[in-house]
Amino acid sequence: MVIISRYEIIFNSRGEYAVKSVNPSICPICGGSLFVRDSRLRICIREDGHTVFYRIRRLRCKECAKIHTELPDCIMPFKRYGAACVENAVDGHNICPAEESTVRRWKRWLQTRSGVFEEMLTAQWQNQHLRPANILSAPLFFQELRNAGAGWLSKLTRHIVNCGYGLHTCFAFCP
Ligand SMILES: [Zn+2]
Repeated sequence: MVIISRYEIIFNSRGEYAVKSVNPSICPICGGSLFVRDSRLRICIREDGHTVFYRIRRLRCKECAKIHTELPDCIMPFKRYGAACVENAVDGHNICPAEESTVRRWKRWLQTRSGVFEEMLTAQWQNQHLRPANILSAPLFFQELRNAGAGWLSKLTRHIVNCGYGLHTCFAFCP
């Protein structure tokens, strides 16, 4: 899976929203270039309760042959609801059409995973800077990201997925 932040959405004659990245994506496993293999439909429930059908491309890596779904960052992996919808719910804004029990599970998921997210973002920072972060003065990356305002969940998801971290341990237990 690859999460993209810059993309075109075209409403096609079949009533679907076809998504296409503006920039070429790279394989999160080996860094190889990707080419379009096929596409599939993906359902997403928006904040207003409407269900939208997205036509999502599937890409194959030229190097390792792994297939990646090209997911726009407005969609959450493994969730029916859009990223803005989930973000608003976990931030306590009561504008999400999901059931209360679902929102409670999302909040519990975020609470129990925040430490893991912090470690992943710290590891990513260390890889980029080629040195360990000072644990006594290192910024709290996850908290900073969350405090940055709307769109923090999409950014978090993009960082985690595109860096090849264990996606299933982060998202699979949330409906
Ligand atoms: Zn690859």
